[in-house]
Amino acid sequence: MREQAPATGRSETREIAELRRLKDEQPDLASAADLQIELLQLQKRVMSRVSLPTISLDADHLKSLLGSGPILQFEHLPMDWSDMRFLMRATASAMRTHDAIDDVDCRKAEALSRDAERLRTVARTWYESARPGAPPLDAEAGLESVFQQSMRPFLTRAADAIMARSDFSGWTKGSCPLCGGEPDLAVITPAADRLLICGRCAARWRFEQLTCPFCLNRDRGKITSFASRDGQYRLYACDVCQRYLKAYDSRRASRPVMPAVDAVATLPLDAAAIQRGYK
Ligand SMILES: [Zn+2]
Ligand SMILES: [Zn+2]
Repeated sequence: MREQAPATGRSETREIAELRRLKDEQPDLASAADLQIELLQLQKRVMSRVSLPTISLDADHLKSLLGSGPILQFEHLPMDWSDMRFLMRATASAMRTHDAIDDVDCRKAEALSRDAERLRTVARTWYESARPGAPPLDAEAGLESVFQQSMRPFLTRAADAIMARSDFSGWTKGSCPLCGGEPDLAVITPAADRLLICGRCAARWRFEQLTCPFCLNRDRGKITSFASRDGQYRLYACDVCQRYLKAYDSRRASRPVMPAVDAVATLPLDAAAIQRGYK
């Protein structure tokens, strides 16, 4: 009888290969890279099963929704609640192992993963918290990053489907045209445009190079911009709201932007920004 290799459920995507390389090159980033690898593997297990969003993907319909955007409502998300419960539990556990959340928040996430009804309510509150004036998470404060990771397969699937049929060129806001989330990375294209990348659904939209997406300050004298030592990344910091955004400069890159990888690779840049008083 032939012995079968155990199915590990792991596969080497390009992102995971890049994270392993980063780990070898910068051992200081090993724990953050390992966490990101685990999260990608968890999300990949669910991703292949996620269905299309329950929104009409007719291009004209999407265009009219964008007029009063953002487009995606919570009801549209292709949620599978048993997958979501699994992701909450597994994400919190991985983040706890790598000290990305504390014990209290890890237990809160575990409790939520066992309470299907409450999980739906809190997931909706988290999703809608990106709207101006929306209520905060309250009792589940501290779980924002767990939700951001656990909701990712559903959000990115919905975003990919809509982006394929939408044109965001008329969208001039600093928040996401699809889910209303904030950008957590940008990419500078070979044509020197800056595209913002949503930290929740990964949608991308063009935004003025030297305007702050968080407070819309466009006074160039109040934007501090500097590059990482290797020139691969730029950081734009706003001297009005004190927030900053990092960008991957694809003009001098050997690979496309990969938010999951670039978030880890730019941790030293975050430290530099925080040291200068930005947040
Ligand atoms: Zn988004
Ligand atoms: Zn600002």
